[in-house]
Amino acid sequence: MPIRVYSTLTRQKEEFQTVEPGKVSMYLCGPTVYKPAHIGHMVGPVIFDTIKRYLAYSGYQVTWVVNITDVDDKLIVKANELGTTVEALAKKMTEDYLDNLRTLGVESIDHMPYATQYIKEMQEIISGLIEKGYAYPLNGDVYFECTKDADYGKLSGRNLTEMLAGTRAETRDGKHNPADFALWKGSKPGEPAWDSPWGPGRPGWHIECSAMARKLLGDTIDIHGGGLDLMFPHHENELAQSESCTGKPFARYWLHNGLLRKSSGGKIGGDHSRHGDAVANQSSDMMAEKQAQEEQKLAGSKGAESVKTAVFAKFDPETVRFFLMATHYRSPVDFGDDRLEETAKSIDGFYRLIESFTRVTGQDFYALPIAKSRSASSELSGEPDSFNSELVALRTRFLDAMDDDFNTGAAVGALFDLRKMLNGFIAEHKLEADGKSNTAAIASLVRGVTLFKELSNLLGVFLKPIAKKASSGADDEFINQLMQLLISLRADVRKAKQFEIADKIRKGLTDMKVILEDRPDGTIWRREV
Ligand SMILES: [Zn+2]
Repeated sequence: MPIRVYSTLTRQKEEFQTVEPGKVSMYLCGPTVYKPAHIGHMVGPVIFDTIKRYLAYSGYQVTWVVNITDVDDKLIVKANELGTTVEALAKKMTEDYLDNLRTLGVESIDHMPYATQYIKEMQEIISGLIEKGYAYPLNGDVYFECTKDADYGKLSGRNLTEMLAGTRAETRDGKHNPADFALWKGSKPGEPAWDSPWGPGRPGWHIECSAMARKLLGDTIDIHGGGLDLMFPHHENELAQSESCTGKPFARYWLHNGLLRKSSGGKIGGDHSRHGDAVANQSSDMMAEKQAQEEQKLAGSKGAESVKTAVFAKFDPETVRFFLMATHYRSPVDFGDDRLEETAKSIDGFYRLIESFTRVTGQDFYALPIAKSRSASSELSGEPDSFNSELVALRTRFLDAMDDDFNTGAAVGALFDLRKMLNGFIAEHKLEADGKSNTAAIASLVRGVTLFKELSNLLGVFLKPIAKKASSGADDEFINQLMQLLISLRADVRKAKQFEIADKIRKGLTDMKVILEDRPDGTIWRREV
């Protein structure tokens, strides 16, 4: 099945065809680095990291750019507040952002350009737009004239005439239309400023992305991504500027991810919408206003908490990533401790399968060699038995889901079924007990678990042992030997009908949060999570 993606521009799923065969250029709008990252900042990178993994697995060479906005009203205000420079604050917060991305397994970004390093490219686009009559200078600022762009509004599905109808005909600041947005802003004293043909100033927010995407990826990029809150006005304006400048399509596919909502309602973070020019210039737009209000409501007294203190202090990052993968990227996600606790419970079964695999085969799951590409994934054609056919069917289900607009939710469903099937196979062949010498069954299990690793790694999960597992005891040979001794002593006293002693052993272990599980093929142990 060919890969199909839903593009916001056409509002339908389209067959994925890139500008250059075999290559994908992907641009994701990054953060304004003025405060520590919160969970809302992590969603886009995790999703597009997964998309990159999957496209690479499908044979594409992917170049992924995530920009860093290091000049903006919020940065200026915050730096003044903290008594530091915009540059120093941006550097510190970029490090925090990258640190959190690494924690979540996002390490595949190819370029992270800083906006301030592309001022020349931005000015080139602005000059071009003025020459072509799409933009006009005004008292040190430069504005894009929306009414000159015949298809302005095509991405968000807004009609400019309708948008303008709700506003006053005249604007106080001399702009031709209230919807016109700033490409360049004349600087006030004390603000960062660059020389320009229109006087000292700094770029507007939207032009940053147009310039960086063009410089690093070309006039037409394959995938442009971002949160749904960026579709208007940010992406609409990026598109208008870029296409008016180059006369070519700006992006082949526009992918918008759904936003996080607190599981009790409301949006988490999402400080993408800029009050500076987004809301002030396009105040007629109901959505922008509503978003601003919601943001204010949610920000409360201390704002969205940093992802480090609010999430990683309580949950393993792999749980967070797995949770984000369990929903389709376009859907809104209800986020909260209760939801992460549920995920932690359901993901634990995978760790138990991994531990069981190591006990049975003596092999390290994390060191299993896996196919890095879809075409190399053909190991299963060996024996045409029912186990292999079931594996092939589950793999097909997983890949079909991912081909269908990166439906990670359905792919996760296939992983759960694969886990169930492998656990069933271990029990059926008594591999935890006397079946260990069944080499054919062990070989099948290795094939199945290798496939599980290949597929789950595409979602960026089960890539390496998680921190808490290192102390679970299961991989400590000494502890394991002690536990086996206790388990066998308990079996002996039970056989001798000395149930009081058997209960004493179990209770003592339970108090230490060690669980014994009696299964038809023997007793296994694990520490409670
Ligand atoms: Zn952008």
